[in-house]
Amino acid sequence: MTQAIQTQTALSSAATFTALKCKECGEEYELKATHVCEFCFGPLEVTYDYSKLSQTVTRETIQAGPNSIWRYRPFLPVETDTPIDVGTGMTPLVQANRLARRLGLKKLFIKNDAVNMPTLSFKDRVVSVALTRARELGFSTVSCASTGNLANSTAAIAAHAGLDCCVFIPADLEAGKILGTLIYGPTVMAVQGNYDQVNRLCCEVANSHGWGFVNINLRPYYSEGSKTLGYEVAEQLGWQLPDHIVAPLASGSLFSKIYKGFQEFIKVGLVEEKAVRFSGAQAEGCSPIAQAFREGRDFVTPVKPNTIAKSIAIGNPADGVYAVDIARKTNGNIESVNDAEIIEGIKLLAETEGIFTETAGGTTIAVLKKLVEAGKIDPEETTVTYITGNGLKTQEAVQGYIGEPLTIEPKLDSFERALERSHTLGRLEWQQVLV
Ligand SMILES: *Cc1c(COP(=O)(O)O)cnc(C)c1O
Repeated sequence: MTQAIQTQTALSSAATFTALKCKECGEEYELKATHVCEFCFGPLEVTYDYSKLSQTVTRETIQAGPNSIWRYRPFLPVETDTPIDVGTGMTPLVQANRLARRLGLKKLFIKNDAVNMPTLSFKDRVVSVALTRARELGFSTVSCASTGNLANSTAAIAAHAGLDCCVFIPADLEAGKILGTLIYGPTVMAVQGNYDQVNRLCCEVANSHGWGFVNINLRPYYSEGSKTLGYEVAEQLGWQLPDHIVAPLASGSLFSKIYKGFQEFIKVGLVEEKAVRFSGAQAEGCSPIAQAFREGRDFVTPVKPNTIAKSIAIGNPADGVYAVDIARKTNGNIESVNDAEIIEGIKLLAETEGIFTETAGGTTIAVLKKLVEAGKIDPEETTVTYITGNGLKTQEAVQGYIGEPLTIEPKLDSFERALERSHTLGRLEWQQVLV
């Protein structure tokens, strides 16, 4: 694994991104692999030339692009005409009528990133952007500090792009997340500690090894990939913004970038201005952002995670304060739910819509339900709920809560008896009789 060459090349004249800018003090930086302001330690964010974007991008130019996140390439921080495109993005926006009826809503949509490509989570978006930029900056080894899905995405897309890959995960992740990383052949470091400890270690490695860490030194580029969750929903709703969105919060990045995506589409005239309400979902066992929101604080106090929703278990969330600010100024909410409610949320989405999500999605559905019951989502609002990961990766979370198959002999009368019992008793009760 070789050292990265970090030279700033002159931007091509077609490039629409202009600099890295500190979100706190406004200091600007060259477009290199760096993520923290040297003056105030604030996070850096990519800036764009919006007048150029307004002049060159139309609904038609976007629709003529590929059926992936790269149809929005002018809004993403890469220069190349040939980004790493593994079919990421343009996931279904499903009108969820049965779930809506169950909850008492009129117009509910599910943005289904449980079927995103290639690794069945929203992380494929951020990694496609980060690795395309990593290649432009000359990195040959890419890495990440992951709660699971990010390791899957980084390993898979690095394999496709022919980049060396070394990922860091907490050692206690779900089996599906570990296997779903190892299969692509990266080096996997299972760290005996929680995500926040993994992240701290990775900050040191990033400094000493010159690797491209997608969510550390490449974070300003990486995080821009989440804006596509906003763009796609706007385009799929017929170039309109919804009234209310509900999304999960780990670091708070995805949530903040959906907001940025909507604002950009308004700014360049692709959609009409609208005040979209932003509501966020956390697991009670790791809810530092929900706590800050509830207590009216504008700082986030770190916590030690303890929840089955491991993919969103970040105790010290980098973009937590921005998420609180967005929820507050859009008249939204940030709520948390316990592990039992998360499992119920997974089952509810599966049984009403045929979508099997992981614990993060269960958290989001359970919070959606809680917000509706508390009168915090108006039944008339067009509401979009973001489902960010796939249930097949976190099977242990629902094991024991979904029953077992009815085991029968290969005979018609055995089948008929089982069917009758299941009708009179209900499937779950019949299973109890069997055991
Ligand atoms: C990483 C992740 C999130 C949230 O990510 P942030 O941008 O850090 O808030 C949500 N859902 C799933 C499934 C994830 O893997």
